[in-house]
Amino acid sequence: MLNFELTPAQLDLQKRARDFAAREILPVAWYYDNNDETPLKVIKKAYDAGLINTDIPKQYGGPGMGLVENVVLTEEFAAACPGLATSLFDNSLGMEPLRLCKNEALKKKYFPRILNDFKLICFATSEPTMGSDVSGLRCLAERDGDDYILNGTKYWVTNGGLADYFSIFATTDPDSQHKGICGFLVEKQWPGVTIGERIPKMGQRGSNTVGIHFKDVRVPRENLLAPPGEGFVLAMQTFAHTRPAIGAFAVGAARSAMEYAIDYAKKRRAFGTKIADFQAIQHKIADMYQKVETSRLLVWRAAWEADQQRDPTVAASVSKLYATEAALEVVNEALQIFAGYGYTRMFPVEKLLRDTRLFRIYEGTSEVQRLILSGYAMNAYQPVMPPLEDLAIHLDKEVINAEPGAIAWRCRICGHVHYGDEAPAECPYCFFPQSAFKKV
Ligand SMILES: Cc1cc2nc3c(=O)[nH]c(=O)nc-3n(C[C@H](O)[C@H](O)[C@H](O)COP(=O)(O)OP(=O)(O)OC[C@H]3O[C@@H](n4cnc5c(N)ncnc54)[C@H](O)[C@@H]3O)c2cc1C
Repeated sequence: MLNFELTPAQLDLQKRARDFAAREILPVAWYYDNNDETPLKVIKKAYDAGLINTDIPKQYGGPGMGLVENVVLTEEFAAACPGLATSLFDNSLGMEPLRLCKNEALKKKYFPRILNDFKLICFATSEPTMGSDVSGLRCLAERDGDDYILNGTKYWVTNGGLADYFSIFATTDPDSQHKGICGFLVEKQWPGVTIGERIPKMGQRGSNTVGIHFKDVRVPRENLLAPPGEGFVLAMQTFAHTRPAIGAFAVGAARSAMEYAIDYAKKRRAFGTKIADFQAIQHKIADMYQKVETSRLLVWRAAWEADQQRDPTVAASVSKLYATEAALEVVNEALQIFAGYGYTRMFPVEKLLRDTRLFRIYEGTSEVQRLILSGYAMNAYQPVMPPLEDLAIHLDKEVINAEPGAIAWRCRICGHVHYGDEAPAECPYCFFPQSAFKKV
């Protein structure tokens, strides 16, 4: 049975997130954007309000909420500020390898700290020379007795400058691709960890993004998230569970751009009437609305699949790809409705456009999502229709009226269907010989 309704508990969470976004995020969003400043205070308030770390499992003392709950509240945060939403979601991203890994002792040690002591945790696969090609990462993890020694640099690490812990992926052998990749939970305070300068960005300036350098950092074996050979799969599983949230960022940003555009269109006048009266504007609003609605459905569906313990990889890619590309179109058209004012920093759409541009890049670019989806559609997807060579396309009346069970032959080259006990010696359309025909 399909059910698109949120439960009373989910509706309550949505309301709390919406109120929090209106009270604590919206009023300060432009300040953080303008000053490229770290929103630690906002993260702490969300922590105090129980609006982050919602996904810490119950057996470690957490609320044990699902991804559906997470995308519902993430949409609200992103509607107020996509940059701050990225920072607020980052503990979920950083914790996902811990949640998915098999290291029980590590979970028992770190989940309660994150939950009770306001500890932040970030996630790092990317490096200065690679992002999409996770199997090509170069940060080196060398075995030394029971420990590993880390050397290398992680780049583009969201919340890296604020976090106490890092879920990082490294390799025991850069030449062995997937086979060498392992994952570790590393503490910021360990000797050899250096945090880089804040990376200056086009948008989402309210989210902290830095490089992290590891110089002979000793990591105890107990802090393994994934042993060598299992890290790549863990990183991919993480993305499959966090990409729906990137879709939710996109839904939130697109939704608020649409709302601002409707508001503006109803008030702005041209040629003696409100611009909302022009069909050209109404059609833009219609397109925005359908994109917001379809994106949300895809995001919720992907999150639901994850919560059902199914492999959400494909649904996650669909939702991330569709919602992030749709959001960019929506925000861009919203700016068009604002026209000149849309291009200024006095109205909200300029910032939304800069913020939204990032969605197509992080957690797997649109091109990477298309790689995943084309790979699935062409290799794993089970078609319902018969193969083309078995498809009898009847064009002639006498063929339609032919006796049931009459033997049909289909030319594999041009598609001509011949009826009779035997295939013709030659196709009358493409002139290929009898061997081109298959019995259908
Ligand atoms: C603000 C910000 C925050 C980020 N936060 C994090 C974070 O917290 N943790 C983290 O680990 N990373 C993070 N990232 C990194 C992000 O995930 C990468 O930027 C992204 O995966 C793309 O990698 P890249 O930039 O190295 O591009 P590249 O991988 O170098 O790609 C360059 C271009 O080539 C295309 N391309 C690459 N391979 C293929 C292919 N096989 N087929 C077709 N096209 C291809 C890409 O789509 C892209 O258009 C963040 C990035 C930004 C900008």
